[in-house]
Amino acid sequence: MVNVLNFKKDELKEYLEQNGFKKFRADQINNWVYDKKIFDFNEMTNISKKEREELYGILNISLPSIAKVQQSVDGTVKFLLKLIDDNLIECVFMSYDYGNTICISTQVGCRMGCKFCASTVNGFLRNLELCELLAQILIVEKYTNKKINRIVLMGTGEPLYNYENIISFIGEMKNKFGMSNRHITLSTCGIVPKIYDLARENLSINLAISLHAVNDEKRKKIMPVAYSYSISELIDACIYYFENTKRRISFEYLLIDGMNDGDDDVKELVDLCKRAKAHVNIIPVNEIKENDFRESKKINKFYGDLLKNGINATIRQKKGVDIDAACGQLRLSYSK
Ligand code: SF4
Repeated sequence: MVNVLNFKKDELKEYLEQNGFKKFRADQINNWVYDKKIFDFNEMTNISKKEREELYGILNISLPSIAKVQQSVDGTVKFLLKLIDDNLIECVFMSYDYGNTICISTQVGCRMGCKFCASTVNGFLRNLELCELLAQILIVEKYTNKKINRIVLMGTGEPLYNYENIISFIGEMKNKFGMSNRHITLSTCGIVPKIYDLARENLSINLAISLHAVNDEKRKKIMPVAYSYSISELIDACIYYFENTKRRISFEYLLIDGMNDGDDDVKELVDLCKRAKAHVNIIPVNEIKENDFRESKKINKFYGDLLKNGINATIRQKKGVDIDAACGQLRLSYSK
């Protein structure tokens, strides 16, 4: 049985036509699913009863179930979703002045081993399929009754290691959710060859690099990916991405007490930003018991020093501090 959510572009039309339905039924079904958030053919009242019964014979609309929801006082909502094979993933709804954002997961677990991240503690299990990526938006829009305006691919997983499904997912955003690619941000820990591939896709999405350290020696201590790709190679890939897409790069920088928050770090970070024409998103540490990383006391000074050196920087607003809001934390606590 084929899941409606796995069809791309006009594939559903073709599939329905091959099975004896009129092509326009595809538009009706997509309208029910993506606009009205109706996931049962029986409720699609502009399709005859006979045809609705026939649809059950060739299609399903299968979404993960909601295993747990945590609601923060600041409006952030964290979802733990159970997939068809009982694996668990997280996604997070955040409300900002400029609109509603969803942070989605791209894999079940993660193999990248970043030392500060709860998502990697139990390793990697599998990639998420197109239907599971799209379902995160549908579930969150239905639950919150709010339209999502921005997507950040920053949840559990390394999106560039689920490359084909992610490219398909981005390709469906305009069609299915009316969203411009400029409102999509993909975050990677720095898979250099895939950044070149992504640049050549010409998608105009924003690229965020999980940098977190300014030289290879320091980066290797917290991010094993640094053994595969040097910062110099990463910066070259960023320059290529910017030149090909004209989309600004951002460096995600988790400011860790005593690890990467010194004056020398600022100096080296300024140089990297100037080379890559990047801006910096300083992230306060979300302290978790699985590691010893603590929030830096120098966050305002670090931010001020970047600005003084002409670097565009922001401090990420802390969201959902009263719930398990750090990436992978809810899934980890649920599976213990
Ligand atoms: S930070 Fe991202 S890439 Fe690194 S382990 Fe966590 S989910 Fe994986």
